[in-house]
Amino acid sequence: MKTHCRQRQYVFQIKKCGQSSCTICKSVQLPHDVFDSLDWLPDPIPSTVDKDHYAKFQTVYQSETTEQHRPTLITTIANSERASSSILVNTRVREFIQCFQCGRMRCLYSERALSAEDKIACQIAIDNWDYSCGSPLVPEDHILYNKVFVREKISCETPMELAYYSCRKSNVNCDVCYWCGHDNELAVPSESLKSKYKSLYPCCNLCRNAGKDIFVRGEIKTNTRAAKRRKINN
Ligand SMILES: [Zn+2]
Ligand SMILES: [Zn+2]
Ligand SMILES: [Zn+2]
Repeated sequence: MKTHCRQRQYVFQIKKCGQSSCTICKSVQLPHDVFDSLDWLPDPIPSTVDKDHYAKFQTVYQSETTEQHRPTLITTIANSERASSSILVNTRVREFIQCFQCGRMRCLYSERALSAEDKIACQIAIDNWDYSCGSPLVPEDHILYNKVFVREKISCETPMELAYYSCRKSNVNCDVCYWCGHDNELAVPSESLKSKYKSLYPCCNLCRNAGKDIFVRGEIKTNTRAAKRRKINN
């Protein structure tokens, strides 16, 4: 693999190694000077003259390139949270913070339970900071910056986090609308919807009337054949 192939996210290339002693590939048939001028196809690399474009093939060809400028990789990094996804889970919700613009409660996550000292620092941040969706909980030089996380790739358009409903802290106000985050009067789900899904999230009448559906998860797959048999036996 190492001597004959090059695997990248975008292309998989195979090339003869050109060693006469090689037991894997047969001897090179191309004229030697042509074969020697063949290199792996380069990865996309930004141009040194124009940062908004990738460099021309001729300038990168036969130079050592890496995959780090792949467009899809760049967007993945730009869209990914600072905190790993293993931290952004319902069991690691420690506190909530309210966005002063949209009013939604956002979850604060940390890998481990907060020490007494960190809890105080966190509470101070919650009380004193005009938090709005998309910003971190604290500035970069704060002791909690890499300890307590709020989702940062969100905006005031982002619905409530599902962890808000499933974490242990949420029993107090579990009935805020999934879409708008307010505790308006809730729409009543139909029995058929209830029987089809494991989880139904609250949806207020305002959002319902504005065209939002009740947010559901976990379709209950009924084994129709077993259900039919049961009917017959009854
Ligand atoms: Zn070979
Ligand atoms: Zn907001
Ligand atoms: Zn609503």
